[in-house]
Amino acid sequence: MDLKTLYREIVNEHNLHPGHKGDLPAPTHIKQGVNPTCGDDIHLQLAIDGEGVITAASFNGSGCAISQASADIMLDLIEGKTKEEALAFADAFLAMVRGTATDEQRELLDEAAALEDVAHMPARAKCATLGWHTLEKILRGEE
Ligand code: ZN
Repeated sequence: MDLKTLYREIVNEHNLHPGHKGDLPAPTHIKQGVNPTCGDDIHLQLAIDGEGVITAASFNGSGCAISQASADIMLDLIEGKTKEEALAFADAFLAMVRGTATDEQRELLDEAAALEDVAHMPARAKCATLGWHTLEKILRGEE
């Protein structure tokens, strides 16, 4: 299996069997992210404890395979991490999309690096980054 096939499999798997899709029982943060050009609409839900640790994370909503898979992979990475660690993932992912990621950032991204080819297609970049931008807004406290 070549790398591109493997990456397609990762995206398919997260799209068909998302591990983080659904509603959290007690989210502390909920934010909607919309990508009108594709019709992606996600509601990101995080439970962040008093220590700043993301104890649970989920998303709901509808959208294309790329937006859904990217959000699911993202939540795999950030669940159990601190807000600072989660922001480092977001910085790394957004740098990858811009083509400026360092080797350390690529390594950090793990499965999310599967979205690199997709993210370089202008029409799909907004799908791939939707969840990440929404995450960033929650963590930075932006509206
Ligand atoms: Zn999309």
